Amino acid sequence: MPSHTLFLNSVINSRSSVRRPIATGADPENVYQSPLNFDGPSGLASSGKTLSINYPTKATGEVFNNGHGSPQIAFTPGDATVTYDGKTYALLQVHFHSPSEETINGEAPALDAHFVHASDDQSLLVIGVMFDAGSTPLPLLTTALDNEDGFTADAPKKNITIPDLSSAIPKGDFYTFQGSLTTPPCTGGLQWFVATEPQSVTADQIKALKAVGTAAGLSADVGNARRPVQPLNGRDLTITQASSASRVAAGVTAIVAAAAMLI
Ligand SMILES: [Zn+2]
Repeated sequence: MPSHTLFLNSVINSRSSVRRPIATGADPENVYQSPLNFDGPSGLASSGKTLSINYPTKATGEVFNNGHGSPQIAFTPGDATVTYDGKTYALLQVHFHSPSEETINGEAPALDAHFVHASDDQSLLVIGVMFDAGSTPLPLLTTALDNEDGFTADAPKKNITIPDLSSAIPKGDFYTFQGSLTTPPCTGGLQWFVATEPQSVTADQIKALKAVGTAAGLSADVGNARRPVQPLNGRDLTITQASSASRVAAGVTAIVAAAAMLI
């Protein structure tokens, strides 16, 4: 099996905290660690780049217990991609931490979701979204919870369709920085984005998430490997605006462009 395939499989399917180390690139000393605390976006400079989210309205994948008490959805690679700084990354998986690993002014929102992507050259890009307990449910978490089966660490993976993926990442501004995996070996060199505005999850969803983790004999804190916030250590923290273009819309644009060339 090619090493690239092995690498992707280790990120997509890993139930353990041990993942294969990757090249640290921009952070050879491995000092830019995740997660971070944020004091708000005001005063932060723009990264001058755009994060293009290209998620389809419907995607396929598998859901399973990732061993930290979180349901993890492994996506069929290629269904969804993002582009940043001229490089395209495929969405591999999403998992959840409750309470959130990222904090705002020292406070942890009720939940975060980490969307993990990889490029052809094995660089990783993570998009984090935080959620406060509110009145609007998070459809992606409903899909994961409705399909987890027993939630034991060795329960079979279940094939699922994710019906609402294109709305999973909010529009708006994202904190932009170099960071790391938040589970051992906490390898650095990852491109991180975290949405500045927390979204909504319901208290009932958080309760259901913790209940399945507890039933499986795991900590009530989902993602019981939840890592404390790490110092900035002098790294750049900037703001990037995300633009969203669904696969369908991109296709229509291409057809229009092709049609224009025939005129
Ligand atoms: Zn995570």
